[in-house]
Amino acid sequence: MSIISKDIQKAIELLCNEDLVAIPTETVYGLAGNIFSEKAIQKIFSTKKRPHFNPLIVHIPSFDSLEKVVSYIPEKAKILATAFWPGSLTLVLPKKNTIPDLITAGKDTVAVRVPNHPLTLELLQQLPFPLAAPSANPFNSISPTKPEHVERYFKNDIQMVLDGGPCKNGIESTIIGFENDEPVLYRLGALSIEDIEKVIGKVAIKNNKEENPDAPGMLLKHYAPKTLTILTTDILSEIEKHQGKKIGVLSFKSSFKSNEIFHEIVLSKTANLSEAATNLYDALHELDALLLDVIIAEKLPEIGLGVSVNDRLQRAAFVN
Ligand code: AMP
Ligand code: MG
Repeated sequence: MSIISKDIQKAIELLCNEDLVAIPTETVYGLAGNIFSEKAIQKIFSTKKRPHFNPLIVHIPSFDSLEKVVSYIPEKAKILATAFWPGSLTLVLPKKNTIPDLITAGKDTVAVRVPNHPLTLELLQQLPFPLAAPSANPFNSISPTKPEHVERYFKNDIQMVLDGGPCKNGIESTIIGFENDEPVLYRLGALSIEDIEKVIGKVAIKNNKEENPDAPGMLLKHYAPKTLTILTTDILSEIEKHQGKKIGVLSFKSSFKSNEIFHEIVLSKTANLSEAATNLYDALHELDALLLDVIIAEKLPEIGLGVSVNDRLQRAAFVN
């Protein structure tokens, strides 16, 4: 029997009972549990096989709930939250003592967001606690943007995926932290830097290397298909290098129509960067299921959400 369901009351019951529910958001599906239940939080880490050094994002119903979670809100954080919540922006702020160390990986800051999905907002409004919700995929694998993706990963591990349809934005939230009250970008994501800078001016960018403790989730290899993935600006010459192999192509706006290609997916025929971001993970799921020898992915223009998609593709293609 399918674990995908629209029954919000059942989701509430499970969550109040320290169980996990996969929830829809506009970014990707999250694997959610009560932030104050050690049992639920441990289950998030064990189900995902996520290392404990990797902190979780806390989801709240509105800006008004922020002060229950954080101890201090810089002026620019208020401006950002007012401009973009509910939405794909996560703020990293000093945590309240009540927030368990397990959520924050022992850090004195906590990552918080108000997601922009009607079902999950309703769920959060009805629950007496916030939800910790990392992406609902095993550690390092492709993030889920449809309920079916979650079901495939976790049908033996969780009882319910709350069905909110396909995710509108399709990649993870943008994460902003603060140093001396000034904003610093920790992770590229579904909200473009250009849009953020329109509201608060220049944002410093952390060079998120694996050893950088500021955003412990920013591993060089992440978001990855099982299939060898290559990121390039020149699809045709990569195809030539892999002649005779079972090749999948992930292209930005136009089809390459080579006989050498087994299967090709175009991310946005109208060259729309936000449409490309929305379709990215679903395309990777589809290609990865075809047991290809190689996925050749085309680099997007380095502007707007193209920068975020390229970031994910680089991590998918990283080879040690
Ligand atoms: P995910 O929930 O899978 O989208 O990943 C959440 C990511 O948020 C983590 O992997 C970190 O990179 C980042 N994060 C969460 N909490 C903090 C924090 N307190 N400080 C810095 N980064 C954080
Ligand atoms: Mg994740």
